[in-house]
Amino acid sequence: GYRSRAAYKLLEIDRDDNLFNKAQIVVDLGCAPGSWSQVAIGKVGVNGKVIGVDLLEIDPIPRLNFIHGDFTEQETLNRLLMAIDNKEVDLVISDMAPNLSGIKNVDQARSAYLVELVLDFSASYLKVGGNCLIKVFQGSEFEDLVKLARNVFTQVIIRKPEASRSKSKEVYLLCKSKKPM
Ligand code: SAM
Repeated sequence: GYRSRAAYKLLEIDRDDNLFNKAQIVVDLGCAPGSWSQVAIGKVGVNGKVIGVDLLEIDPIPRLNFIHGDFTEQETLNRLLMAIDNKEVDLVISDMAPNLSGIKNVDQARSAYLVELVLDFSASYLKVGGNCLIKVFQGSEFEDLVKLARNVFTQVIIRKPEASRSKSKEVYLLCKSKKPM
């Protein structure tokens, strides 16, 4: 079984939007406890590679290349780049959410910063034509983040999977086909 119900959101988006599209190398940001990584490992098959990053430790998942670290830190990025080993990344998925402080502006700014970092990472290391899925909270930064995403990707669609509780403010930016730089 899956470690979290979050798996069903990813499966739903993949079913509707062909997110994985034969991806072989997948980077899963904020992967703990690991259900998206479980889905990704199934999708990439035996020749593929899934690299997961999280602040939290996870119980090992067979075939997951797990990096325990903070994605906002250079050292974690360096370890991620080592794991990618100069190959082209086919798909980036990010379910990262900051630990909430309860202060609305602070939480929105932290969340937006994570999204920007994921877009920067994708701009640099995702292959041209590659896809990206990013969790975003609908706050004051939302439109700016969509604009940023549209600079990098040919098509940016907002998805709210059925499996995502309707009351939560989270949505997913489905970013399709990275543009040539
Ligand atoms: N997709 C996961 C799954 O299916 O099991 C669930 C992810 S959970 C909603 C969000 C995760 O993002 C948390 O485990 C949290 O530790 C992680 N996270 C938040 N900020 C992070 C950061 N700066 N670097 C790495 N991971 C981070």
